[in-house]
Amino acid sequence: MHPTDSALTHLECSACAATYDPERLWNLCPACGKPLLARYDLARAAKTLTKRSLLLREGRMWRFHEVLPVREWERAIILGEGNTPTFWVERLGEAVGCRQTFIKDESLNPTGSFKARGLGVAVSRAYELGAKELAIPSAGNAAGAMSAYAAAVGLPAHVFMPADVPATFRVECEALGARVTLVEGLITDCGKKVREGVEKHGWFDVSTLKEPYRLEGKKTMGYELAERFDWTLPDVIIYPTGGGTGLIGMWKAFEEMEIMGLIGSERPRMVVVQSEGCAPMVRAFEQGASEATPWKDAATIADGLRVPAAVGDFLILKVLYESGGTAVAVKDEDMLHYARFMAAHTGIFPSPEGAACLAAQVQLLKSGWIQPDETVVLFNTGSGLKYAHLWT
Ligand SMILES: *Cc1c(COP(=O)(O)O)cnc(C)c1O
Repeated sequence: MHPTDSALTHLECSACAATYDPERLWNLCPACGKPLLARYDLARAAKTLTKRSLLLREGRMWRFHEVLPVREWERAIILGEGNTPTFWVERLGEAVGCRQTFIKDESLNPTGSFKARGLGVAVSRAYELGAKELAIPSAGNAAGAMSAYAAAVGLPAHVFMPADVPATFRVECEALGARVTLVEGLITDCGKKVREGVEKHGWFDVSTLKEPYRLEGKKTMGYELAERFDWTLPDVIIYPTGGGTGLIGMWKAFEEMEIMGLIGSERPRMVVVQSEGCAPMVRAFEQGASEATPWKDAATIADGLRVPAAVGDFLILKVLYESGGTAVAVKDEDMLHYARFMAAHTGIFPSPEGAACLAAQVQLLKSGWIQPDETVVLFNTGSGLKYAHLWT
């Protein structure tokens, strides 16, 4: 076996701060039911995870192995995730009146979305800790990503999808060897089926924030951004938010990097984008609340944003308040419009979630919340090709 030099020390509850043994599989905090976070010996990690050592490293997302949870390289399931480019999109920036506009193009990940980062780490760690079968409720990219990483090592994978899910997402999981069950009902009904399987058959649930390691995969976007901007951070990050793993993860990455001396104390203003048809975080932010109430009759073409009740709602809101950020709801029709607009001005055909970031940027430039000379990073979280049905 070849050690990764992971500096993982323990798991800590994000709400009650109880700590847990990281060498066991955990879902939510047994004491209070909130998400667990991975904690590291950052002084130790900082000895080898340096700006200079990173220059010489290959291995994409796993270049940051000291601050990832997997202990042995033999357990890291690698399909080419991470290390995505952050393009300066000059023509787009000029068209919207914000010259320093960048797109981090996560559609280049395996399975066509950034879910590959989260599930890459979660499935690897579950495999390392001896999980026998994995399960997920998902209406979109998460299921495909779990199926891919499970397939790579032959772990049985169970996917529960709402019956009305677009064929692309279902076919992808089936082709990757997952057992797909279509459920008449909503994603919450799919969640129930997963819980039944967990109790009856001992499956391991890899839902967003219900295990600690998807967040760790997603946080690598924060490390890559800092590296891209020569260990500084942009003024504004616009992020299409469903469960919020990426937003919470990047914020955690910034803190870790500051402790390791890689960046200073300056932070971007973080922007949450949701659809007008499902905007629980926007509503909660506007009310100044510390938690969100579930959104009734959630409906949007952006599958990644159809999350009526996020387990990590309080963590998302904390990031918004601490960063001086904001939250914006956009119309589905604007996502379709701005997807074409982004594609035609950059060569990147985004998912509707990625297009939502551009719609939000335009709104925030108009309102003056973003100044034309600020550096803004949009996240194209997935490939438009998986959503071609929306335009036909
Ligand atoms: C899942 C998903 C999102 C939302 O990501 P979170 O980090 O869970 O908020 C956004 N875009 C796409 C394409 C997704 O698949």
